[in-house]
Amino acid sequence: MKKILLVATGGTIASQETGEGLAPEISAQGLLDFVPEIGRSFHVDSVEPFRLDSTNLTPTHWRLIAQCVRDNYVNYDGFVITHGTDTLAYTAAALSYMVRGSPKPIVLTGAQKPIGVDSTDSKVNLRDAFLCAASDMPGVSIVFDHKVILGTRAKKTRSKSFSAFSSINYPDLGVIRDGSVVRFIRQECLSEPEFSTRLCEGVALLKLIPGTDREVLDFLFERNEAVVIESFGVGGLPEAGGFYECIREWRGRGKLAVVTTQVENEGSDIGVYHVGHRLKSGLGVLEAYDMTTEAVIAKLMWILGRTSDQNLVRQMFYTPVAMDMFPR
Ligand code: ASP
Repeated sequence: MKKILLVATGGTIASQETGEGLAPEISAQGLLDFVPEIGRSFHVDSVEPFRLDSTNLTPTHWRLIAQCVRDNYVNYDGFVITHGTDTLAYTAAALSYMVRGSPKPIVLTGAQKPIGVDSTDSKVNLRDAFLCAASDMPGVSIVFDHKVILGTRAKKTRSKSFSAFSSINYPDLGVIRDGSVVRFIRQECLSEPEFSTRLCEGVALLKLIPGTDREVLDFLFERNEAVVIESFGVGGLPEAGGFYECIREWRGRGKLAVVTTQVENEGSDIGVYHVGHRLKSGLGVLEAYDMTTEAVIAKLMWILGRTSDQNLVRQMFYTPVAMDMFPR
């Protein structure tokens, strides 16, 4: 019998009505009690580092989850992490870097409806996550609505439907059908995972709108080591309004700028238009290409937690980790 550790962290899956909205109230064991066949099919232990709505999570909580996996790694065949769906894609990306190359499955799941209500998706997602955690599916993934999605490629794309997550610019790793995992892609892994829980939290995100004031960008650069700018289309910055000067100034002070796109699919290509071309050639701005914003943020925190050497940062940013970007 496979040994699986359940790391329960809260979210809708564990929520109950409080009279003031849903809040996570159900313990790890309480979740397992709703799906008794899991305990008959696997040897399950559980830990609960915290129990929160995932809106309340910070990188400190990512560290706690990574530490749970690290401290128990040798004793289990796989890990299931139950988590709120709202920031699950961020946690999945962060764990992909913090527990790099895991040969054992680390499977995140959650639900759109609490486990105690009729017509919930919690039970099927939990069951599927355990199946996946006991299968030959290395690395970090999300199991949701019968799909297995790479941890670095997931995005919450529906706020209410059961099919809450999409894999962005990358195929699903597999599906779960009639109680079996059908694997399409096997993540590459190391013989031992590389754990690193050091993160630099000084990473900010600016979503550009027509008419954004450059002072917003100044504000973010002043307080952070890196600013990710979600721009438009294949990527660029308005040519009026002092954005280029702003980037030049802050780059000169050693700050990092990354341009990505608000468009969900197909990624950036900032050299295409005049509004983007100079950013890369003249100002040393990095671009996200096909990476998700969630993965860009987590990757920057992970890289800047290890080095501040600009050349190394650039090299690490463009080196694919857990298939977060296509090699270039
Ligand atoms: N607000 C909840 C959370 O992220 C939503 C969910 O779990 O579906 O914790």
